[in-house]
Amino acid sequence: MKQKKFILQESEIPTQWYNIQADMKTKPMPPLNPQTHEPMKAEDLFPIFAEECARQEVDMEHPWIDIPEEVLDKYKFYRSTPLVRAYALEEALGTPAHIYFKNESTNPLGSHKINTALPQCYYLKKEGITNVTTETGAGQWGMALSYAAKLFGLETAVYQVKITLQQKPYRSIAMRTFGATVTGSPSMSTRAGKDIITRDPNHPGSLGTAISEALELAMTTPNCKYSLGSVLSHVSLHQTIIGLEAEKQMAMAGEYPDMVIACFGGGSNFSGIAYPFMRHNILEGKNTEFIAAEPNSCPKLTRGKFAYDFGDASGYTPLLPMYTLGHDFKPANIHAGGLRYHGAGTIVSQLLKDGLMRGVDIPQLESFDAGMLFARTEGIIPAPESCHAIAATIREAKKCKESGEQKVILFNLSGHGLIDMPSYDQYINGDLRNYSVSDEEISHFLENVPKVF
Ligand SMILES: *Cc1c(COP(=O)(O)O)cnc(C)c1O
Repeated sequence: MKQKKFILQESEIPTQWYNIQADMKTKPMPPLNPQTHEPMKAEDLFPIFAEECARQEVDMEHPWIDIPEEVLDKYKFYRSTPLVRAYALEEALGTPAHIYFKNESTNPLGSHKINTALPQCYYLKKEGITNVTTETGAGQWGMALSYAAKLFGLETAVYQVKITLQQKPYRSIAMRTFGATVTGSPSMSTRAGKDIITRDPNHPGSLGTAISEALELAMTTPNCKYSLGSVLSHVSLHQTIIGLEAEKQMAMAGEYPDMVIACFGGGSNFSGIAYPFMRHNILEGKNTEFIAAEPNSCPKLTRGKFAYDFGDASGYTPLLPMYTLGHDFKPANIHAGGLRYHGAGTIVSQLLKDGLMRGVDIPQLESFDAGMLFARTEGIIPAPESCHAIAATIREAKKCKESGEQKVILFNLSGHGLIDMPSYDQYINGDLRNYSVSDEEISHFLENVPKVF
């Protein structure tokens, strides 16, 4: 009988995360103080982030970092997540490729974000913090953080991109169910929000505006810190539990991936599935290909510029070396809310620059075509974000069909789409369209990137 699903015993769940920074030949450039342009050290990040996370952020030394016992205990409620061979999808495509997916949608929060929400809240609680703030786009991160914060006894304030909050209120209701307060961004509750609304009263909000507001609240509230669900290196670190499990599960299947694919917003789920395999490319000369699938309406990897830029719209964050479309880039209102971010994490940006991975851009309709086929074959309705990874996988599987190559493709299913049904409704009714962005628009937004080099 064909075996389809691979699950680890509790004792086989990894007990350490993998820090690729320690093994990279060219290290990522450091975050810079936005005023002085001096490199920032871990201590400089303590006022904003959990101290342990700040240390992990700039750790270039230790490839393996212990997962705290308390976090591992919580991981075990929903891990390992299944690795599945997608026979039905392969058959529908008529491809000789072997397609596997790591299913990060099986936990009750519905996405991979819980993998970093748990350690971040644990570290905050441990150092005596009582309140946490954050931003969220489509709401997966807000949901995961609200739950993890409640578990560790922290109060949560979430700024959610305003347009998403209005169009898809379900996740904000879920966040409030977990005890968080939720505010649409830009709002009148912060200086940053007021400035943005004064300049542009109809601003729909972006992850950049929401980050500014959450940061400002953290900086002006005693005993309150800020938590980010993507982009940063410590977030990517926590997500490597995905790839480390997948590595063991691929071995159970008797295979090793020729290609690893994930969708790309700020880079956390991509990093999570990719870095554990990439270490074998770096250290042992393996030749696995790594593909990050971004929306063609927010193409920072394929058309952005490598530069020091801010992580938020108002310039509160440190300057980060990243592929960026400019920190005030306003992406089209596509349904993959989690992929509407202007920049890529610093590690991923360096890896892309060094040719260790590549980006592909996917139009909105192609992503939903792929999501529909996946739903109809594998029985899982994928998150609109994850549909981009599936679309990139299908492109590669079709190439295999033409060439007759039997490649092994592994992709990450970052979340399910059961709270995103209005998007599928629009797709099925023929009301969805593609958005593209012109070179002129991109150069316009890139003009505001600070001149550091
Ligand atoms: C947030 C999110 C993403 C995008 O974020 P990354 O940090 O790039 O992983 C992708 N898929 C889902 C389901 C998400 O919630």
